[in-house]
Amino acid sequence: MNLDTLTIAEARRALDAKEYSALDLTNAYLDAIAKKDPDIHAYLEVWADSARAEATAADAMIAAGKSQPLTGIPLAIKDNILIDGRIASSASKMLENYRASYDATVIKKLKAQGAVFLGRTNMDEFAMGSSTENSAFGPTKNPLDTSRVPGGSSGGSAAAVAAGLALAALGSDTGGSIRQPASHCGLTGLKPTYGAVSRFGLMPMGSSLDQIGPLTRTIDDARTLFEAIRGHDDNDSTSSPDDLYPVRPLRRIVGVPRAFVSSGVEPDVLALYDATLERLKAAGYELRDVEMHNLPFSLPVYYIVCPAEVSTNLARYDGVRYGLHVPAGTVNESYEKTRAAGFGPETRRRIILGTFVLSSGYADAYYRKARAVRDIIRADFETAFSQVDCIAMPTAPGPAFKIGEKTSDPLAMYAEDIFSVTANLAGVPAISIPSGTVVRDGKNLPVGFQLIAPHGGEDILFTIGSGVEKL
Ligand code: GLN
Repeated sequence: MNLDTLTIAEARRALDAKEYSALDLTNAYLDAIAKKDPDIHAYLEVWADSARAEATAADAMIAAGKSQPLTGIPLAIKDNILIDGRIASSASKMLENYRASYDATVIKKLKAQGAVFLGRTNMDEFAMGSSTENSAFGPTKNPLDTSRVPGGSSGGSAAAVAAGLALAALGSDTGGSIRQPASHCGLTGLKPTYGAVSRFGLMPMGSSLDQIGPLTRTIDDARTLFEAIRGHDDNDSTSSPDDLYPVRPLRRIVGVPRAFVSSGVEPDVLALYDATLERLKAAGYELRDVEMHNLPFSLPVYYIVCPAEVSTNLARYDGVRYGLHVPAGTVNESYEKTRAAGFGPETRRRIILGTFVLSSGYADAYYRKARAVRDIIRADFETAFSQVDCIAMPTAPGPAFKIGEKTSDPLAMYAEDIFSVTANLAGVPAISIPSGTVVRDGKNLPVGFQLIAPHGGEDILFTIGSGVEKL
């Protein structure tokens, strides 16, 4: 088996044909992790013993003819998704020793299929960032060029798959954290429709934006993992009924928001985007210009709504209920000392920003205004979707950047999210697919092509996306 190119589909075939066992496959990944991960740092913790036990159980399922799509498939899990009895730290000092007391719904579903869990992956602290440099435990390197970031915040999950240290991985996407690292590591990344995948057991960042989704080598694998984790869940009040959205017949029309796409993207990335559109045209899709005047407001709206939700979600880390506790003379003093010791700089910045935009006297000017503009952005999508199947954009303005290049300039880091936050604000599904490479410092670096579909339109993304992938 070649772990650098292996897909879930190929491993499934080989496992069911008994060409190798799930234990062989898991051992191969554990060996690769031991050899390569000290340099990449995709994992915060590897669970070798339990992974071998899970693989052995999977082999028994396969032998009994009870194999399911993910039986015996070795996966990496982002460190903000709970697994019963395991540490889940969100790459924060605040939760360095916190152990989950239950399984996230997505984990329960994967366990029922007999999947193998290799370990938990590095990320930006509490999923805030676009490079995985905000981890309290050191950055992850991009396996394709170790002087560069893998993207973020699910950078550990992306690097694990790209380096052949997991067959596929789960990430979470609040404003691009699955799609952007997929773009930077040459993978497929899917952010499902808001409400399609349960958030029960996902540590909340921006609750109205967060979704769990797959990072894989192919669209086919993304579909397999998505099908395994999706579905209504009574434990998540924002989970949608499975039949909420109508199935739309394909019109074979792809929307191009030309004015928005042309601003702020690196020239060769724009050229690659245009070349990919041409390939879609050659495959029989009509390209249609769509005017979405409010898309340029997405970034400022996201950076008001997201910190506002972060500031309330992270209030729970008070030194009493979860994780770190720094003792002090009074409760308030302990609260302040715990939060000062537990949170990194980006997390504090967002809490301060979020508290400000929600504060009395400013909530109308910032938070409520942003909510209103969010509605208008969503309406822009609805209008566009009345004419087209999906909308095409770059995933990010450029390829992977150098480690340290943007750490001292938060606004430059935020600008990385310009194309990805749009889908989270509207709650619609979006996928990033590898579309080719651009050259930086003599190296070929992958660039993602993003497709965005109406609510419940994951199948549209898979269908039109495979046109991009196969050509
Ligand atoms: N880069 C964005 C941010 O920093 C998105 C993060 C995410 O999707 N979790 O907020």
